[in-house]
Amino acid sequence: MGPPSCACCGYPFEFAVREGALCAACMKRPPPYSSARSALLYDDASRSLVLAFKHADRTRYADAFGHWLARAGAEFLPQADLLVPVPLHPWRLLRRRYNQSLLLAWGLARLTGCPVVPDMLVRRRNTISQGRLSRRARERNVRSAFKVRVGRKPILQGKTVILIDDVLTTGATVEACARALRAGGAAEVHVLTLARVVRPQAG
Ligand SMILES: [Zn+2]
Repeated sequence: MGPPSCACCGYPFEFAVREGALCAACMKRPPPYSSARSALLYDDASRSLVLAFKHADRTRYADAFGHWLARAGAEFLPQADLLVPVPLHPWRLLRRRYNQSLLLAWGLARLTGCPVVPDMLVRRRNTISQGRLSRRARERNVRSAFKVRVGRKPILQGKTVILIDDVLTTGATVEACARALRAGGAAEVHVLTLARVVRPQAG
């Protein structure tokens, strides 16, 4: 067992808590997903690994990462109906050559047999680079950035969806995607990411 963490977002506590305990952020503002789990903390040890996967042509990493994701998502993967990657904007897809979230989803699908729907979500517009924005600005930027593809709505109805991304930073992107999936008919959304940035929680 790993360290104790928030039952919803997976935020690690530094002390033992009863099962099902929520962190301050989730109590204050419940996220649109049921739970979020990550295989790795995004720290000095994992950063180079994640960046290599993200920026170099290291598609072979996806298999190893698939195993890590399967373990991190063990609580909810047995109930999963569909795996949905966070989509890249087409312009970024061109530049980076592939969507690493989709590669992760495929890596996981090979282990679990759960189907991947690569084009379930679409970006509404080009969101500007998130790197230098404050949390509030990021949220504004991505809040309405995603929608369910109209033609995909029928297969989404009543389904339990696992939303896949590479790195969870503020959570604004996965929250926007989860909200779009719920609005589009998903019964439940769980978030599974390769790595997660943990920073002190503040208001
Ligand atoms: Zn939480």
